[in-house]
Amino acid sequence: MNTTHTYTVCEECRKVNRVEVSPTSGKAPVCGHCQAILPVKNGISEVSATGLKELVAKSPIPVVADFWASWCGPCRSFAPTFQSAAQRHGGVFVFVKVDTQANPLAGDLYSIRGIPTVLMFKSGMEINRQSGAMPAPMFDQWLEAAKSP
Ligand SMILES: [Zn+2]
Repeated sequence: MNTTHTYTVCEECRKVNRVEVSPTSGKAPVCGHCQAILPVKNGISEVSATGLKELVAKSPIPVVADFWASWCGPCRSFAPTFQSAAQRHGGVFVFVKVDTQANPLAGDLYSIRGIPTVLMFKSGMEINRQSGAMPAPMFDQWLEAAKSP
């Protein structure tokens, strides 16, 4: 089986790191620059607003960001769909989650009006966004649409 790689950002030094989607070692990946533990698990990074900004600017592949909060029911119901997509499309898109409760400024920075909202960034620019919990087939279609140039 081929190893799939994705990208994540170090919340300590802001360096973008290339990591395995499913690390064979089972260990949490660390930053190649400062050795801090990277905020990535099962192919999804939990990032801050500044971490997302850095990742969007530096990632060579499109970034899909799920803005969510633990108190939000639709966000929790969308989480398995997002997780499944992160496993299946790991090498094609970078999957990140932004906890709007832990990062209250993130919602303002990206003009998020309701959660969950999923944003798609390509070459440093937002190219699409969708509010509300998408059913899995719809989310897959949404991702596929972003693959075409
Ligand atoms: Zn670092």
